[in-house]
Amino acid sequence: MESTSSSSFVILSAFIISFFLLASSPSKALTQEDNFLQCVASHSNQSMPQLYVPKSPSFLSVLQSSIYNLRFTSPATPKPLFIITPNHESQIRAVVVCSKKHGLKITVRSGGHDFEGLSYRANVPFVLIDLVNFRTIDVNIKDNSAWVQAGATLGEVYYRIAEKSPVHGFPAGACHTVGVGGHISGGGFGLMVRKYGMAADHVLDARIINAKGEILDRKTMGEDLFWAIRGGGVTSFGVLLAWKIRLVPVPPTVTVSTMAKTLEQGATELVHKWQSVASYGVPDKLSIALHVGVVDTVNNNNGTRIGSRRTIQATFTTLFLGPAAQLLQVMEKKFPELGMKQEDCKEMRWVESTVRTAGFPDGTLVDILLNRSSLPKTTFKAKSDFVTRSIPKAGLEGIWKRFLKEERPELVIGVWGGRVNRISNIRLHFLT
Ligand SMILES: Cc1cc2nc3c(=O)[nH]c(=O)nc-3n(C[C@H](O)[C@H](O)[C@H](O)COP(=O)(O)OP(=O)(O)OC[C@H]3O[C@@H](n4cnc5c(N)ncnc54)[C@H](O)[C@@H]3O)c2cc1C
Repeated sequence: MESTSSSSFVILSAFIISFFLLASSPSKALTQEDNFLQCVASHSNQSMPQLYVPKSPSFLSVLQSSIYNLRFTSPATPKPLFIITPNHESQIRAVVVCSKKHGLKITVRSGGHDFEGLSYRANVPFVLIDLVNFRTIDVNIKDNSAWVQAGATLGEVYYRIAEKSPVHGFPAGACHTVGVGGHISGGGFGLMVRKYGMAADHVLDARIINAKGEILDRKTMGEDLFWAIRGGGVTSFGVLLAWKIRLVPVPPTVTVSTMAKTLEQGATELVHKWQSVASYGVPDKLSIALHVGVVDTVNNNNGTRIGSRRTIQATFTTLFLGPAAQLLQVMEKKFPELGMKQEDCKEMRWVESTVRTAGFPDGTLVDILLNRSSLPKTTFKAKSDFVTRSIPKAGLEGIWKRFLKEERPELVIGVWGGRVNRISNIRLHFLT
């Protein structure tokens, strides 16, 4: 009995080994690669797109170039069979048609900021279309609009608008390295959300390629699909090529203020009060966003360091679409506890405010908006939710207690209210 079972084990092992040898034999892999490449070449009207396979010398650097969450740079993260960095729409269409024919999933990456890395990883064999070369921005000040290709970053959009006009802007996120492909389709917003709503509220038209390889615009895709891709994510419906966005008016001078308060400086009371003033009762042109983290404060005795202490720090970042004097009047009336003074306020152009509110120090040139890797990449797990009622002080204290036990916790609360509350969540209507 013993010898029979051990010989059947040997036969089974031999079968498994030969199966794996067959599956991984170079000629088989080459054939699959060749077939796919031939298919893409025959469907591309233009030249063949730039294509990388795992054995290409630059495969890993291209893959990692815009992975924002470093959790997904580990060797264990599944890698694509091919990375394509197209320059022409016909090349994307060819990849869509051929991936379908060869049973390969497609992931599409614009800015690579997906919290869970869904734009560049999958658990089945897949092809990555990286839109890094797809980032032309064509601003038309005469009709307050711009065509923006999907791979452009928010920073590039802000910069190109400001090149043409100091009194036009676009209401989108604070982090300028985020891509417009994922941001606008996923319901992204920034510090002008209370005045103008979300980025998706300002989409006038879009071009996408569907699973059949057809290129559709607003008219040919129909209003239902056009509605869905403005907040529901484009990935379920196709590859987004470009958005036509509406520009919004901004004053020549806006005011930015960043004020940080530790627990010892009354952070709990301030955060508690902030909850009741930031969304309601202040003008739409005022937004105060909140970031809470943990910092080390140094204890001094007559100038000599005698130790350090970990504490909670709440940072209030304010954008006011107007001059500092007006902002100070509003703050004195609505949120005097924060103690904002003239010296806490900086007047600047709107485009400069996008640099300042992203956390860069005074004097940073707006050219940084064109640098796709100017924000440090990090390892993180993030989750978002809606806070519909004020968190009581005891609740905040509970959060702080937990924070102090964690290595690098962060809480970011954006403010809504204002225009957001006046836009229907059933059907988005264009703002006039
Ligand atoms: C550091 C950081 C700061 C952020 N700041 C803000 C902020 O201020 N405000 C805010 O609202 N959000 C913010 N976000 C969230 C961000 O808006 C979303 O993660 C957004 O989806 C990222 O878009 P992306 O194009 O950079 O990401 P990607 O990883 O490229 O894509 C995100 C998702 O969209 C899909 N997708 C991307 N492009 C296309 C396309 N062309 N066609 C079809 N599908 C596509 C991807 O497949 C993926 O599922 C931030 C995220 C990070 C990491």
